[in-house]
Amino acid sequence: MNVTRRLIRICKRFVNTEAKCQDRPEWIKPIGYQTAVSVYNPITRCKVPLILKTENVLKWYICGPTVYDSAHIGHATTYIRSDIIRRILSDYFNIDVLLVMGITDIDDKIIKCSIESGKDFKTLSRHFETEFYADMNKLNIREPYLYCRVTDYIPQIIHFVKELLARDYGYVTKDGSVCFDTNKYNKYGKLRTPVPDAVKSQHPDKKSALDFALWKASKDNEPSWKCPWGRGRPGWHIECSAIASAVFGNSVDMHSGGIDLAFPHHENEEAQSCCYHNVDQWVNYWLHCGHLSLKGDIKMSKSLKNTISIQNYLENYSANHLRMLCLLSHYRNGIEFSDEVMQNAVLVTKKFDNFISDCDNYVAGKFETGEIDENLLLTVNNQFFILLETD
Ligand SMILES: [Zn+2]
Repeated sequence: MNVTRRLIRICKRFVNTEAKCQDRPEWIKPIGYQTAVSVYNPITRCKVPLILKTENVLKWYICGPTVYDSAHIGHATTYIRSDIIRRILSDYFNIDVLLVMGITDIDDKIIKCSIESGKDFKTLSRHFETEFYADMNKLNIREPYLYCRVTDYIPQIIHFVKELLARDYGYVTKDGSVCFDTNKYNKYGKLRTPVPDAVKSQHPDKKSALDFALWKASKDNEPSWKCPWGRGRPGWHIECSAIASAVFGNSVDMHSGGIDLAFPHHENEEAQSCCYHNVDQWVNYWLHCGHLSLKGDIKMSKSLKNTISIQNYLENYSANHLRMLCLLSHYRNGIEFSDEVMQNAVLVTKKFDNFISDCDNYVAGKFETGEIDENLLLTVNNQFFILLETD
């Protein structure tokens, strides 16, 4: 019984948010089919009812990895937390979750690694893509409905950019790159109030620091594709917009990723997609997972060379230990990774394992218990289902 109560407490901590809704006209309540679920909305900064465009079907896009190196446990926690939410929605609320994940298999880092390693970008990215799928499998993360590689969607991306240019939402720079003109879109800043100085200006010809690349002209012998503005490759933000639009059309129920993607990546996706589809709102619900850091709030990142790969992690702990670590905090909060927090996760996992093993033995008749207080059992069970239906 104590274990069931513990599970309730853990689930509550994972999803509960108490916050007063803020008056933010940027978010439009969708018209569609009500569900029994409420979700935290980072635009209104409170929980709002989950309403689906298609009855009982959740169209969910998640930003996937850039495949230039092995995935680390910081990436893993974002996918595990999304997987937990997905399982709650599909297994307890019986919602058909159509999850699509984009795989970035062409970008600056991939090109840099390809030059350094002497391997062509396709060989390099396919290697880490295959490794990523194997890692996700080892962590018991359910496969998405579709994995979509950026290089498989180049015609759709070119069409997207072409349309934005035709409607004057973008401009071609001297070198043949294309930028999105943020001043032409009056709803920029839905997810975060933009601070131009905080955005790294990467292109000298940009009209505003907030403008971002839709298409990057290719330099020297970089991998490139032919388009009306000369040879080049997609900018990062346009990839997700074009893939999600190709699969789901002009409306996406849910879009998720790590918290660092909220701005500018998701903001830019929303801006260009609203302009492309001529809608006021493209994504109805944004979901952002907190980051994993090392003790002392040190970010785990490849550039700081302090990462723990999923394969290295699994030499010491199990997939369920990492899943339990994720469950022990709210999905939007950061996680501080250390041996101490892992020991706690191992201990809690063990309690659940023992409980399940006792249940199995009891059901198999190998184990006898004393009198069961059925009233208490029913009360705890009801609490559990009330929790799932309301949170
Ligand atoms: Zn993305």
